[in-house]
Amino acid sequence: MSWTSSAARIALLLAFAAMLGWYYGQPLWAVVAALLGLVVFWLHQMQRVQAWLRSAGQPPPETYGFWGDILSEIYQLQKKGREARAQLQSTVDYLQNSFSSMRDGVAIVDDHGVLKWFNQPAQTLLGLRAADQGQTLMNLARSPEFLRYFNRGEFGTPLEYRTAGDAGTWLRVEITRFGDGDRLLFIRDVTASMRMEKVRKDFVANVSHELRTPLTVISGYLATFLGDTTKLEPRYIKPLQQMLQQAERMENLLEDLLWLSRIESEQGLAMHSPVDIRALLAELQDELGTAYPRRRIELEVATDHEVPGDYRELYSAVSNLVVNAIKYSAEDSVVKISWRQQDGAYALTITDQGIGIDAAHIPRLTERFFRVEDSRSSATGGTGLGLAIVKHVAASHGARLQITSKLGRGSSFSLVFSDQGKATTGQPVSASVA
Ligand code: ADP
Repeated sequence: MSWTSSAARIALLLAFAAMLGWYYGQPLWAVVAALLGLVVFWLHQMQRVQAWLRSAGQPPPETYGFWGDILSEIYQLQKKGREARAQLQSTVDYLQNSFSSMRDGVAIVDDHGVLKWFNQPAQTLLGLRAADQGQTLMNLARSPEFLRYFNRGEFGTPLEYRTAGDAGTWLRVEITRFGDGDRLLFIRDVTASMRMEKVRKDFVANVSHELRTPLTVISGYLATFLGDTTKLEPRYIKPLQQMLQQAERMENLLEDLLWLSRIESEQGLAMHSPVDIRALLAELQDELGTAYPRRRIELEVATDHEVPGDYRELYSAVSNLVVNAIKYSAEDSVVKISWRQQDGAYALTITDQGIGIDAAHIPRLTERFFRVEDSRSSATGGTGLGLAIVKHVAASHGARLQITSKLGRGSSFSLVFSDQGKATTGQPVSASVA
């Protein structure tokens, strides 16, 4: 019923009252009496509406005219609200059920670090109790590695850590932010895959180790034969030289494999005493000066900053980068090494004016045995493991490997260390093409 028909009914009532009053000689009093009656009726209706609103969930009382319309509209709104709430609740229940039934641990932590919710696997993996819901996660988590990772707030790369106490359970934790600073934690038991990974690494290390002795014997004899070529039949000289060259390549490969598996197994355990990069570069320049006497290597050290880490690992990483710069550039070109402060971090940059790398290859450079072109590396005698070593050393020192290159113009490889020696970004390797 609309406003106009309600107004028309009131007007009709007043007109009728006026006519009746006129008939009895009191038209004004009759209109006043009709208005009073109307006010009393409305007051009564209001009181019923109030009583109904207080009794939540009941259908509206039978009312008449305009009041009936208002009540039924309120009732419809209430009904829609209830339905929307029920739908939302069922969605929440559904999501909670699916999270609860996951085999991985799931936990929600709010912006104040309070554990809002967790499923059964999260309880087991993190060693929580059901009553811990509503407690601060910081007071409950036991692993210092987990606490450091959680507090640091850089969740670009997941954390893998060994839980304290029990028989070597490895957990992988991924944290995602959502809402107003809330965090969603996924926790997975990766002990089995870590064991497999260890078996693989041990196998590579053992094979490399076992192959080293026979190879040393072979290359030793070959070197002896070639020591005095006058006693050799001329047709054997070239094949023997090639055999020695390949044996030496294999030796280099085994050295790199052994070194890689050693730094992999030491990852996270590296001795973190300050490394004097200035001294490291001076030693490297010395060594390279002997190995490549004709190459021009320019050194620019603009800071005395020391990097917490392992000297030998850092030395091997920088030496791989510089040797690559030498290998992949012309003999008369310059290789520059610089150590300086850069945008609040410290960058060790090796720049060459060599053949450069196509943009498409850059993301794959640090993969083991990846070569831009096979011919390129066999010509230079590379093992394909150098940049894999660099990547590992960078990761264990919280540094980022930044690669910039232009085909035919040269490349620039930087190890970027943050001020505190921790990761400057979640991505251990980043690339850009000039
Ligand atoms: P390798 O022992 O073959 O040099 P690395 O892992 O050190 O293996 O390098 C992987 C590949 O990246 C190399 O085979 C080479 O193609 C390319 N590369 C590395 N450094 C440079 C550089 N400074 N200039 C051009 N190409 C490079």
